[in-house]
Amino acid sequence: MYLRNITTPVSSLKGVGKQLSQAYLNLGVQTCGDLLQLPPRAYEDRTKIIPLSTVKDGEFANTMVEVVSHSYFGHGKKRTLKVIIKDIADEGRGMKASLLCFNRNFLEKVLRIGRRYYLYGQISYSYRELQSSQFEMIPIHDTLEDVATFGKLVPLYPLSGRLTHNSVRNHIREVLSTIPHIENELPESIIASHNLISTDDAVRMLHTPANMEQAETAKKTLAFTELFYLLLASSREKRPSVPVNFAPRAQQKEKELLDSFPFSLTEDQKSVLARIKQDLYQNHPMHRMLQGDVGSGKTLVAWVSALHVIFNGGQVAFMAPTELLARQHAEQAAKHLEPLGIRIAFFTGAVRQKARTYLLDALKMGDIDIAIGTHALFSQDVTFKNLRYIIIDEQHRFGVVQRMSLEEKGTDPHVLMMSATPIPRSLALTVFSDIDLSTIRSMPAGRIPIITYLVSNRSRERMYKSVGVEFERGHQAYFVYPRIDDSGESSLRDVETMYAFLSKEMYPDIPSALIHSRLSEQEKITILRDFREKKLTYIVSTSVVEVGLDIPDATVMVIEHAERFGLAALHQLRGRVGRSSLQSYCFLVYETPLAEDAQKRLKVLKESNDGFYIAEQDLLIRGPGDVVGTKQSGFLKLRFASLTNDIDLLASVKHEVDSIIANDKGLLSMKHERIRKLLAESPYFSTNSEM
Ligand code: ADP
Ligand code: MG
Repeated sequence: MYLRNITTPVSSLKGVGKQLSQAYLNLGVQTCGDLLQLPPRAYEDRTKIIPLSTVKDGEFANTMVEVVSHSYFGHGKKRTLKVIIKDIADEGRGMKASLLCFNRNFLEKVLRIGRRYYLYGQISYSYRELQSSQFEMIPIHDTLEDVATFGKLVPLYPLSGRLTHNSVRNHIREVLSTIPHIENELPESIIASHNLISTDDAVRMLHTPANMEQAETAKKTLAFTELFYLLLASSREKRPSVPVNFAPRAQQKEKELLDSFPFSLTEDQKSVLARIKQDLYQNHPMHRMLQGDVGSGKTLVAWVSALHVIFNGGQVAFMAPTELLARQHAEQAAKHLEPLGIRIAFFTGAVRQKARTYLLDALKMGDIDIAIGTHALFSQDVTFKNLRYIIIDEQHRFGVVQRMSLEEKGTDPHVLMMSATPIPRSLALTVFSDIDLSTIRSMPAGRIPIITYLVSNRSRERMYKSVGVEFERGHQAYFVYPRIDDSGESSLRDVETMYAFLSKEMYPDIPSALIHSRLSEQEKITILRDFREKKLTYIVSTSVVEVGLDIPDATVMVIEHAERFGLAALHQLRGRVGRSSLQSYCFLVYETPLAEDAQKRLKVLKESNDGFYIAEQDLLIRGPGDVVGTKQSGFLKLRFASLTNDIDLLASVKHEVDSIIANDKGLLSMKHERIRKLLAESPYFSTNSEM
């Protein structure tokens, strides 16, 4: 029997009347199948015996006892039974304790003198004796296997109404005992390659695990299964990708462009590019998210793919979130694309009047192949002759509406969104809308991981020295500060004071500049150009350098007041260095005392250079409440998987599903028969979900 075919209502279980049925309904449980899929929210470890002689005040004893005597204390209505017990699992120490049975005087008839029980109870030391008013006593006459709790990991469930953990546990045991076998839902090959277990094992281990590993494996298996069918159901809606012939001229230009670089594409770049090219030659629009850590080489993939639109007569819009970044892209494009005969326009808010009119006309006439710019690209008066492809760099900086207003300037243009920050929500978007996901995991060859140091404010001397050494080697540095001047919060080191200190006292003979958002566009541009051309050795800046800048000889990133920045921002900032085969360093200078969260953030950065790992940790530290949860929003009921926390799992499921769809879209092969039937019979989810 399949889990979803277990449709007997919970009301058919012993002791489940109207009230408990309603309580279960509140938890989303209607059928016994639902009940089996109710995930425990935690497990209580009762595997170890904790005798009365060693239990600490306020903690739980877990042992075997014998009832010694009964007595009463209090008067009238408050008269309360006290059951005296003796530990019998404790090598003859026989420590005694009193169970205080508030409102449970009926226990006199249940907990009989001389009988033996498993005790689990919170013990306190008061009135010179061990006492417990919160306890469970289970008679020792069953064999241990029949006891749900003692010596076990005990699941704790979400509760509602008059449900108790015990009642839920017993109901689940009852259902499990009546079902000899739950049919498997995942293909054997997937189970084997992802260290999963069968559906039957998973359900049983979820509720009665022998150890935490079993519980984890069970949860992982069920989460995998859930995502698997979810993705499968939504993937099958998508159009097939048919083999295409790439335009020979575009192929030729692609080769020319790639030959102009001193390196070749990484394997990941190649395979992502192949996917994008496939899409670009279909007649329905591509919506693809390209994720890759900072410095993984997303831009080049974008340029190459753009050739295939341009040399098939289309126009390309390339949008970046800041002027500086847009300009850097425009400069790179001028260097690498113009030689191929591509006509480029640079388009920002700073381009005005005549120049702007001229550009607008050229775009409209089709005299420009690729427009590179900021959000100025989607102002009203911008029109294209034939906009076929939109590339959005650092897409998380833009809103969906902005993206769509740019899309309206073409007829069904292809869209490539690039991001180094895997935001769970955008990940989730890729699952539910028709956005495909591509990932560049590997870094270009020869990159050396950046070494990150945490520097407390008081020990900065050594840092200045090591930075000086880098300068002697001809390398460059960024110093980043969170503020512009020292008005307001005086404890923050501000760029102006620090710039004066660095340039006059610390490194007096070394060419440098101060850059911040209050400078004019022209000033910023000149500074960055000089930095790129190594006329400047270091720049002192506010976080204007955060995204995208690519200066290969910069090997030092000093971030002051690192505790003030979020994890994603710090990772982005650090990503400004380590962009060549030179060893790079990042110094995170912090002010003591550090708040706990800040401490965690800095530790994560020190330990890892992996943007995906960092994004996950970011979530953990901030807690899922900070992110718009998809699990809670109710449009889709996921029981085991979390779209915000199971990012890795989602990626592996997606991978499996993609390969199934690629090889056997109709699910016609024998090994997919089970999946086909399950999908056809009762789809897990409706597919018209909206976000
Ligand atoms: P990001 O993915 O952060 O946008 P970029 O596209 O800016 O990264 O690339 C970072 C640097 O790596 C650039 O200087 C680029 O020229 C270089 N690069 C890109 N691909 C490769 C490669 N396959 N091998 C070596 N360097 C590469
Ligand atoms: Mg980039």
